[in-house]
Amino acid sequence: MTKQTLSFQAEVAQLLHLVTHSLYSNKEIFLRELISNASDACDKLRFEAINDGGLYENDSELKVKVTFDKDAKTLTITDNGIGMSAQEAIDHLGTIAKSGTKDFVSKLSGDQKADSQLIGQFGVGFYSGFIVADKITVESRRAGMKESEGVRWVSGGAGDFEVETIDRPARGTSVILHLRDDAMDYCSAWKVKSIIGKYSDHISLPILMEKEEWKDGELINPSDEKGGRQPGAMVKTGDWETVNKGNAIWARAKKDITQDQYDEFYKQISHDFEAPLAHTHNRVEGSTEYTQLLYLPAKAPMDLFNREKSAGVKLYVKRVFIMDDAEALLPSYLRFVKGVVDSADLPLNVSRELLQESRDVKAIREGCTKRVLGMLEDLAKHDKLPENTADGVTDVVSEEDKANVGKYTKFYAEFGAVLKEGLGEDFGNKERLAKLLRFASSTTDTVSVGLADYKARMKDGQEAIYYITADTLAAAKNSPQLEVFKKKGIEVLLMTDRVDEWALNYLHDFDGTPLQSVAKGAVDLGKLQDEAEKKAAEEAAEVFKPLLAKLKEALKDKAEDVRVTTRLVDSPACLVVQDHGMSTQLARMLKQAGQTAPDVKPVLEVNAEHALVKKLDGSVHFNDLAHILFDQALLAEGGLPADPASYVKRVNALLV
Ligand code: ADP
Ligand code: MG
Repeated sequence: MTKQTLSFQAEVAQLLHLVTHSLYSNKEIFLRELISNASDACDKLRFEAINDGGLYENDSELKVKVTFDKDAKTLTITDNGIGMSAQEAIDHLGTIAKSGTKDFVSKLSGDQKADSQLIGQFGVGFYSGFIVADKITVESRRAGMKESEGVRWVSGGAGDFEVETIDRPARGTSVILHLRDDAMDYCSAWKVKSIIGKYSDHISLPILMEKEEWKDGELINPSDEKGGRQPGAMVKTGDWETVNKGNAIWARAKKDITQDQYDEFYKQISHDFEAPLAHTHNRVEGSTEYTQLLYLPAKAPMDLFNREKSAGVKLYVKRVFIMDDAEALLPSYLRFVKGVVDSADLPLNVSRELLQESRDVKAIREGCTKRVLGMLEDLAKHDKLPENTADGVTDVVSEEDKANVGKYTKFYAEFGAVLKEGLGEDFGNKERLAKLLRFASSTTDTVSVGLADYKARMKDGQEAIYYITADTLAAAKNSPQLEVFKKKGIEVLLMTDRVDEWALNYLHDFDGTPLQSVAKGAVDLGKLQDEAEKKAAEEAAEVFKPLLAKLKEALKDKAEDVRVTTRLVDSPACLVVQDHGMSTQLARMLKQAGQTAPDVKPVLEVNAEHALVKKLDGSVHFNDLAHILFDQALLAEGGLPADPASYVKRVNALLV
């Protein structure tokens, strides 16, 4: 192939613009990214060589070399991994294949500060080289290909790049960064070593740098020792040294690892700037042996609700990296967890398909799930400081307890909605999950009420945990369906996450107490209602029978039934669904999402005490009033009348 110039894919050009214009805050990550690519390339070679040993070309000592040249102003990262063919260089360095990164580019706001924060989360991989280089040359040859089939790729990081075929005896890849003037401090062994120590220490391959030693300058006057010398300098010795420790942090004993080291490792694997909320680190022995180091991030990534999103756990087998995002290691509802699992039992050439079926993996998955739930329970327990004890003496509070205050609340605000998916996904842990749920309630605005707290506060004679689902907290709080509960001082949980309705389908009771939606079925306050109230309701129902029949006839296309209710105090009417029906709110949500939902015809419940309802009987506007009553009940719960224009016409006619 002779030299040709090609354009970057549009997303790449956008990304490059960002990289070169706004990524000043954390320049040094470029080295982490390039070393991680070199290490990935070696892992890929090792993997392919399992089936084709010839790919090693008699050189099976995989390694990464980092060199620099002050005069040429270059920093070079070389690996003897899988390498790239010319076509692969064009594809992999000219386009973004990963949908995650594409997504990321589409979210860029143009606000440099916000954008560079985002980049930290994602890592821009190879392109981060342009943070410090105004030109990058990549020379590579794929393992197994001929020497004459090497490739040179060159770009200034603007709109295009050049590729040509070259002779390259060495297998693998060299990434040559032509440093910008303001990045010349990366031409220092000390600086490069310290960055490698910070970000890449756990890389299990040796990362080599040429040893340097101090050499005094020449004598200014060779015949006179005392005449002084030219400035001395560090000079290369031709010997190589390994600069990374290569001991995976998870393989070390807990007591030898500081909190800072744990946090730093998390930042490396997650590309997150912020320290994690908590971690759990365990060596599990028994029929399946593995080590797990799992973290809870402090912030949710923006693609959290994409269930296809990759899981965050890396799989190693005996410290050899096997794969990123091993989704078989944790259930999907824990997809926000980041970390490492290192198995002693799995074969090195394990595939994703094999993982799904492996009994060892099943045991690892259960073990990891237990640990994560345990970590959450621990945070939940320490979310608040202990209250004063009965004799008025506050318990002694440790520094650690103090540091944990508020962490669970923080966690729950970010990931609570995802955790709820577990109710439908992980039946074995349903009870544990239920205890971890938190909600807002009619008496507490913050999302802080656990089901156990609720139970402990239940009124005498209350037999159910009441809840309502709605689109927003305001809609839930002001819903007519809550009126009688407010009047009687009964707490109702307010649920406003999209997943609540679905998740609650799987949670019929908590600790022996049923959960009851206040918007489903006839209101049954059981023992909370006194005899007089019950009697009044029965009488009202009797008196209203003819009116209800008329209403039912007028609304037969809209309402499944019309009945008198005791749940309303201030509002004339509300809508409810049958006991096991889908709520109107869920049906609406499904339709908005373009899914098919059954046409739920709700039940209209009317407040016999309300002036508007009393006025209905004998009114010449009966038909209009009936429809308005229904449509307003729909509006009150955040819905829209099926025919808004008719609604407006009817109301206006009455207003006039
Ligand atoms: P990622 O590493 O997340 O895939 P990068 O932007 O870091 O994204 O790299 C893009 C692609 O370029 C890699 O997936 C790989 O195919 C190729 N690549 C980069 N560096 C090397 C290398 N040193 N050896 C072989 N391939 C490489
Ligand atoms: Mg990469």
